[in-house]
Amino acid sequence: MTSSLSRAKLSAGERELRSQLAQMVSSKRFLRGALSERSSKCGKRNCRCATGEGHASLYLVQNENGKIRQICVPKDLHELVRKAVGEFQQMQGLLQEVSELEWKRLQIEKRSSRSDV
Ligand SMILES: [Zn+2]
Repeated sequence: MTSSLSRAKLSAGERELRSQLAQMVSSKRFLRGALSERSSKCGKRNCRCATGEGHASLYLVQNENGKIRQICVPKDLHELVRKAVGEFQQMQGLLQEVSELEWKRLQIEKRSSRSDV
């Protein structure tokens, strides 16, 4: 049995979700992970951070199979990375919705399956 499906059999809603996803996957930069804003001291004695507020830095934190890895994002890439993380979350939401429809489809197919044991 194949796991591909014909678009004609999909509801308009599912077609829309799938094409939105396909478009995002092919045209957007996306990144899984959480953004963490931190403040740090650089260690230079004469720097303003020695007495006042630390330097603001942005980290992208990823849980990779239970291991945490992180990367400090340079200032000029903040916006790009923020957007990419947002795109990933949006795509994940869309994927979840399509998966939910698949779950319902499975329930229906199960009902009409003859080898239901
Ligand atoms: Zn400093």
